[in-house]
Amino acid sequence: MDSCIFCKIIEGAIPAKKVYEDEDLIAIEDINPVAPHHVLLIPRKHVVNALDLTAEDDPLIGRIFRAAAAIAREWGVDERGFRIVQNNNADAGQSVFHIHFHLLAGRHLGWPPG
Ligand code: 5GP
Ligand code: ZN
Repeated sequence: MDSCIFCKIIEGAIPAKKVYEDEDLIAIEDINPVAPHHVLLIPRKHVVNALDLTAEDDPLIGRIFRAAAAIAREWGVDERGFRIVQNNNADAGQSVFHIHFHLLAGRHLGWPPG
């Protein structure tokens, strides 16, 4: 996708602070963090959001959650707590239309979110 900022980051055309990558996904620091720890887990495949997923993507979502858990363990927040969030369309505040999962930690995360 030519106009997609996350595809450009994945291609290396736009810089980002990478914390993890493998053949299916990358994890980068969010440019506008809302918690002491805030990374985005992004599949290399351009999927718009949850509405665009197919059965073929089922293993990918599992990998993303396991990568997020591994990063949370590295941060040492696994016992204290962390959150994985994925926004879909306007009411949820999705601003980048390439599916991604926010991994947040390092402070008390209120519930319900605003
Ligand atoms: P959404 O609101 O779509 O769930 O989340 C998009 C996230 O991407 C936001 O938290 C925003 O700060 C982050 N973001 C947008 N553009 C860039 C960028 O160019 N680089 C990085 N690292 N994060 C970005
Ligand atoms: Zn994309």
